[in-house]
Amino acid sequence: MLATWTIPAVRQRHNVAHQGRGSRDTPYHSSGPSIALSEVCYMTIKGSCLCGAVTYEITAAFQFLGNCHCSMCRKSNGAAFATWGILNPGTFHWTSGETLIQNYETSPGNTRLFCERCGSTLASAHSGVVGEVVIGTVDGDPGAIPREHIFVGSKAPWYQITDTLPQHEAWPPGLA
Ligand SMILES: [Zn+2]
Ligand SMILES: [Zn+2]
Repeated sequence: MLATWTIPAVRQRHNVAHQGRGSRDTPYHSSGPSIALSEVCYMTIKGSCLCGAVTYEITAAFQFLGNCHCSMCRKSNGAAFATWGILNPGTFHWTSGETLIQNYETSPGNTRLFCERCGSTLASAHSGVVGEVVIGTVDGDPGAIPREHIFVGSKAPWYQITDTLPQHEAWPPGLA
């Protein structure tokens, strides 16, 4: 399945599909599979932007982490891919700097949230509710490691995936 990665037409097709998917333009949608509550360990994860003005707290473990290689994640993070932490509902809240948070709407109802002072992209929201955070903004150990690569069909041509995590051309099974 990975033989088509480097064909530009295939990359472009997946870019278009991703961007045109409306409510699913973020790497993992909040309607994705969730783990049983019994698997949630009690912990507090903290994060902040580059300048430190915007901070947040998460009061339970992430559902899972994943690396998204889509063009929007690459652009907004300025990196080969973005590592996202998918939240359990109701576990996220801002702890400072909320007035500095700007939204960029990538499709109707879906926004990426960033600090207007330093430009750090911190999270994405669906209909105003934060569903994922950018793991690069977590301070300390997020308590998990990525489980997979997604939108590998949109991967940057200059980046080579060298780990053994599962790779999905676009959405992983169950979220497409
Ligand atoms: Zn900042
Ligand atoms: Zn993405």
